[in-house]
This record gives sequence, structure tokens and C-alpha cells, in this order.
Amino acid sequence: MTSTNIQDYKIATMGSHTALQILKGAKDEGFQTLCVVTPKTRPVYEHYGMVDEFIEIDHYKNFCEIEQQLIDKNCIAIPHGSFVSYLGHECMKNLKCMHYGTKGILEWESDRAMERKWLLKAGLKLPKIFKSPEEIDRAVIIKFHGAKGGSGYFIANNPKEFYEGLAKYGRDDDYVIQEYIVGVPMYVHYFYSPLTKELEIMSFDKRYESNADSIGRIAARDQLAADIQTSYTITGNIPLVVRESLLPMLYEMGENTVKTSQDLVGKGLFGPFCLEGIMDTNLNFYVFEISARIVAGTNPFINGSPYTALRYDEPMSTGRRMARDIKQGIESGQLDKILG
Ligand code: ATP
Repeated sequence: MTSTNIQDYKIATMGSHTALQILKGAKDEGFQTLCVVTPKTRPVYEHYGMVDEFIEIDHYKNFCEIEQQLIDKNCIAIPHGSFVSYLGHECMKNLKCMHYGTKGILEWESDRAMERKWLLKAGLKLPKIFKSPEEIDRAVIIKFHGAKGGSGYFIANNPKEFYEGLAKYGRDDDYVIQEYIVGVPMYVHYFYSPLTKELEIMSFDKRYESNADSIGRIAARDQLAADIQTSYTITGNIPLVVRESLLPMLYEMGENTVKTSQDLVGKGLFGPFCLEGIMDTNLNFYVFEISARIVAGTNPFINGSPYTALRYDEPMSTGRRMARDIKQGIESGQLDKILG
């Protein structure tokens, strides 16, 4: 019989991305914790003192080699952004250890066309996609697939500028031409519990990106002279509190995203997820991406956010919220509802 005592389980993750808040949150909820580290990352996780046990590997891409140990120790793994980038979606899908969150949704999130179908079905506003360069009639952003940190992305206003940009910056044919939305980037951090069946807005952030966030530090004439190619390498996250009147719309968007996912795949989307978009001057929120797991933008809120402070009488990070969901799942004999 499955144990309903949380002491019979360990919460495990990989030492990167959002591991600090995941492990701290697990400890705060009373779990034993395990962190998979490399010799280089281990000192950081030792330093903060919320890890009960380490497994050291040479490189995170070898994570699957220690999977059996996680199974033997009855670990529940909490995936984050680094899992996908080190293991890839296929390997993630084949993980056999207990795993928080829906694996099936990864396919919908990782494939641009499927992601778009999902979000459109949820009634969200998305930037228009141009099927061919000849159709470009407004500012567009050209995104290359797998462009880490958005390097190599460029802006064009018409077909001529598109071909010039491609010749100058382009590397391959695997790109998408997306309407460029003039507005401010905003990342909405949601949490949906399959146990309480409730959606929560945990927090918001905007990203601190190099060199997109540094170009404005020099005069326009110097920007032209420097001929800098814009890139969006993330260096950190900046907390954000949104205009309160936007909350009803943002809640509804999150709810529709969850509801739609339940028609697409098994248990649907649950746990933390993030709608990444641009808010324009008419307060339209255009979503350009969804992350179906915890995002690093929740890291400023290890001690809770203004929104979680309203709801909880204790510090509630997204990491801790997941641990609480797992705890409630274990103690109420519904662990199967939260495992992918
Ligand atoms: P990933 O999470 O896959 O690494 P990302 O979240 O960095 O990608 P990208 O799609 O690579 O997002 O976008 C990089 C940057 O470009 C972001 O800062 C975003 O604000 C901006 N951006 C993306 N799409 C648009 C758009 N359609 N209009 C305006 N700005 C955009």
C-alpha cells in the first residue's frame, strides 16, 4: 500500500534553476530533501543548508544514470527548466522515477505549432504569425529555433528588411516570423492544484536581459554606430506587481489555459506554469510562450510575493507550494493525482 507518511518520501531535484526554493520549500513542509549536483555546483547547495542528501554526477546530462537511486530512495523528483534543457523532452518523457507534474503536456509546450493550437483554443491573444516573408506589412520579430537567449533574433518592417536581416544574421531556415508587439514584457506565474482544483496567481516578473536591457544606456547615435545585434540572454529576474484591474483578465487566461489542457492530454496541466507575454498600450496581453513548469522568474519570491502574502499567513514560494501539494496528495492518499 502507498504510504501516507511524508517521512517515507524524499523530494529531489537537480542543483540549478529554481532548486534553492524547491528544496527550501520541501524542508519547510517537513520533507527530507535530495539534490543531484556536480562538483562545481555542490558548494552552493551545501552553503544554504537545506539539503539532507547529495548525489554527485559529472554532468547533468548524465542524470538518467542515477535515476535508479532516486527510485530506490522513494524520491519524488520536481522538474524545472534545467531538466528539459539538459535531458531533452524525450528523456524527460521516459523518466521512471516519481515525478511531479504532467509529462504529456511537455509535448504541447515544446512544439511551436501544438503550443499555438493549445493557446488559441484557450482564447488567448497571440502575436500573428506570417507564413511567408512577402506578407510582412508591419514590424515583425524573426525567431530562430533553439536560439539560446534569443541571440540572432532580428526585427524587420517589410520583406526587403527581412531578406537583408537574414543575410546579415540568419543561420538557417528554421525560423518563425512573428508580429512584433510594442509593449512591456510580463511573465505571469500561476499554480493550479489538482487537489484543491483552484488556480492561484503566485507572482509576476520581468526579465533582465543582456544586451536588450543595456542598449538604452547609450545615446541613439551611439547605438547606430555600435551596430549591436540585439540578444536576450537572461541574467536575472525583476519582481513585478501589476495594475490591480488587470487581475481578473489574467486569472481568466490562466483558467482557460488549464481547462483547455484537460481536453488535450490526460490529467491536463497542473502545478506551476507561466504565461509569457507582452502587454500593449491598450492593455491587451499577447502571449508569445507558455512554460508548463516552474520558471526562474519565481526566484525573487522565495519568501513569498505580495500575492501569496494575501492568501497565506506564512512565506509561500512556488517551490513550497509544490511541496504542499505533494504533502496533501500523500496524506490524503491521492498521490497518483499529482504524479506525471
Ligand atoms: P525561451 O524561454 O524559449 O528561451 P524566451 O522566453 O527568451 O524564450 P523568446 O521567444 O526567445 O522568449 O523572446 C525573447 C525576447 O523577445 C523576450 O524578452 C520577449 O520579451 C521578446 N519578444 C518575444 N516575442 C515578442 C513579440 N512577438 N513581440 C515583442 N517582443 C517579443
